Amino acid sequence: MTDATTVALADPWRLNADLHCHSYISDGTLAPAEVARRAHANGVRMWSLTDHDEVGGLAEASQTAAELGMVFVPGVEISVTWGGETIHIVGLRIDFARDELVEGLARTRNGRDSRAREIGDALARVGIEGAYEGALNYVGNPALVSRTHFARFLVERGVCADVREVFQRFLSEGKPGYIPHRWASLTEAVAWIRNASGMAVLAHPGRYRLDDTGMWALIDEFCQAGGQGIEVVSGSHTPSQYVQFAKMARQFDLRASRGSDFHGPGESHVELGSLPDLPDSVVPVWADWPEAARAAALQPA
Ligand code: AMP
Ligand code: MN
Ligand code: MN
Ligand code: MN
Repeated sequence: MTDATTVALADPWRLNADLHCHSYISDGTLAPAEVARRAHANGVRMWSLTDHDEVGGLAEASQTAAELGMVFVPGVEISVTWGGETIHIVGLRIDFARDELVEGLARTRNGRDSRAREIGDALARVGIEGAYEGALNYVGNPALVSRTHFARFLVERGVCADVREVFQRFLSEGKPGYIPHRWASLTEAVAWIRNASGMAVLAHPGRYRLDDTGMWALIDEFCQAGGQGIEVVSGSHTPSQYVQFAKMARQFDLRASRGSDFHGPGESHVELGSLPDLPDSVVPVWADWPEAARAAALQPA
């Protein structure tokens, strides 16, 4: 046996994998190829692009990663409505040509434009005119207008100092620009991923406003639907949440994932490939992936 396989299996925890980030195909600011180059320059050896509800950037991402000699994992981040909350499910290693997935994502994207018009109307009622058109100026993909694009426009207008403040004052639930929306169901999203030969991973659980009982119910239902992994080391988590969700990964026998959730320079506080390793107490999502063995062979000692 050679060493590539042995290295990966012996120490998959030390692999610089970044399995969650965005390009301008959804609400990131860079092209898929630019995200690929930045990940590679930062030392990422196994990389996944996970745009919201959209697989349109994966061909470019895959090609650029191949040119750079970086292992690519096709991904997506699906918006789900569960118990009145918006939950995100990451799909990794998806066959992104599969009809059920492509059609399901298209349906999920469908309501975005009318929601965005309603957000524009709601913001106009609090004195901010032209926000729908303003947000569209930031969109890389007209099918995917997101709250993030509104946030960038409100920063440009000088209404808020940064994107975070826009969410706090205008775009979070209960705030004047918030429009409730119904996304895919948890069961559907997991089924689309699984039927496209992918692995379904619960994204950044630390971001959901759920108490212990709610979190338990969510993860239980996710597992019953066929979910296999959970993000533990995430750009959206604090170090104490790494510990908290590592424990939940063990309790539910879920694999653990690592991803920056990078959206763009200057906007994301966590860089591609810069997070700590997964804790030794969990099993990485990639523990038995052949791609991980290839990536480990590329990793400098
Ligand atoms: P949408 O899918 O249009 O509802 O937009 C959700 C996106 O908004 C997420 O993927 C994040 O990129 C961004 N977002 C949500 N909450 C915040 C926040 N508090 N601060 C900054 N960005 C946020
Ligand atoms: Mn986003
Ligand atoms: Mn997310
Ligand atoms: Mn994300």
